[in-house]
Amino acid sequence: MSELISLNPATGEVLAQVPMHGASDIESRLAAARQAQRAWARVHLTERAACLRNVARQLRAERSDLARTITLEMGKPLAEALAEVEKCALNFDYYADAAPAMLADEVIPSSAADSRLVREPLGLILAVMPWNYPLWQVMRAVAPIIATGNGLILKHASSVPQCALAVEAVCRRAGLPEGLVTTLLVGATQVSSLIADDRIAGVTFTGSTPAGRSIASAAGRALKKQVLELGGSDPFIVLADADVEAAAAAAVKARFQNTGQSCIAAKRFIVEDCVADQFAAAFCARVDKLVVGDPLAESTTQGSMAAAWLRDELDAQVRASLREGATLLLGGQKLEGPGAFYQPTVFDFVEPTMTIARDETFGPVAAILRVPDAAAALRIANDTPFGLGAALWTNDLDRARRLAREVEAGAVFVNGVVASDPRLPFGGIKASGYGRELGRLGLHEFTNPKTVWTGPSHN
Ligand code: NAP
Repeated sequence: MSELISLNPATGEVLAQVPMHGASDIESRLAAARQAQRAWARVHLTERAACLRNVARQLRAERSDLARTITLEMGKPLAEALAEVEKCALNFDYYADAAPAMLADEVIPSSAADSRLVREPLGLILAVMPWNYPLWQVMRAVAPIIATGNGLILKHASSVPQCALAVEAVCRRAGLPEGLVTTLLVGATQVSSLIADDRIAGVTFTGSTPAGRSIASAAGRALKKQVLELGGSDPFIVLADADVEAAAAAAVKARFQNTGQSCIAAKRFIVEDCVADQFAAAFCARVDKLVVGDPLAESTTQGSMAAAWLRDELDAQVRASLREGATLLLGGQKLEGPGAFYQPTVFDFVEPTMTIARDETFGPVAAILRVPDAAAALRIANDTPFGLGAALWTNDLDRARRLAREVEAGAVFVNGVVASDPRLPFGGIKASGYGRELGRLGLHEFTNPKTVWTGPSHN
């Protein structure tokens, strides 16, 4: 039987070899999940909400073990992994509070006796997920999907099988019905046939744009509802009237948290010429203080990248940008040793055509692009296939709100770091995907908004 290898990217050590599910396991787990979901759909909404709260409680009870599993399997600093677990718990609390009102029948004024929109579950939703936030990406989908009466089948990234199993286990220990949240340990090649399976009603995907295209095709062929959360190359615009020191401090978090491996990490720092020297100096001074090392150590602020091959891909983008003429201010090298470590890296005088500005960089590499004015900043910000998040720094808030309308993105954060928050709809446009997670929109994605029209009784 084939196995998934759980590897510690900070040391190269094999942590576990986890057997994959074969055809008969998949069949029995899908059947059990569908049965569990049918029963769950009939559970009253207030009871479902109480179950969500139990998951939040269980996540907090297991936070140390869960965080350690995350850190060991994908290399982020332990403090970030602990914060990730807490954010998952907050998401369950949020939907436990908000879902009953958001899913209440909507009475529609009409001439009929009673017209209303009722929200019903679709069935089993397949979640195909990435390794970068191995608990958060999954749990941000699980909470709204089960709140609406659906069930969830998880196909997690092959590099995080222990996290994949932990998701199912924590839901079970929280008291959710057996099978309602089911992990399938399968490879990417099996996703199309899962999407085509009659028991799967929809698919939510978070990951790269190429994989998104393939999943969208499979879901299109099967006529299944889909939500796609894909890659990004978020701009971080600093205008001349911004608080440049505050922007530079925020920029470090925006680019380097999660070792730069975040879809909504700021990747292109687009700065007005007259403040660019000040921004570059303040930014580099802070980046230089990042402590790269053992992700389990308290002093570490930048862990290992999630795999050596990812580190090598990033390094190839860095080499290409050097050849293209970008100015290296900091870093630019792999670190010696068995782990997948990379120096925090900053480039200045980056042109929009250079590799690190054009392609998504998924690691600790920042690109500063200098522009003459706000109009040029907007033009360059939008000159990308992606449209996920964007940050805009200026002290003129009226202007900020006006400019925010012109940025092609799913979210614009003014004077802040783009972040996901259970209350705020999250998602992209263009090659960053479609549909929304989180908030009310995320809750409604995998529901059947059924119109029920009731005329007068003829008694
Ligand atoms: P990935 O290679 O696309 O993998 C993500 C998931 O899709 C994994 O479970 C993977 O399985 C599966 N997969 C890969 N190719 C597939 C295919 N052709 N058909 C079906 N499934 C397929 O992405 P990643 O490297 O794990 O994650 C990094 C990417 O995700 C970045 O581009 C990042 O920007 C994006 N991301 C987006 C968001 C967002 O919310 N917009 C959030 C986080 C990350 P295997 O592991 O078995 O290959």
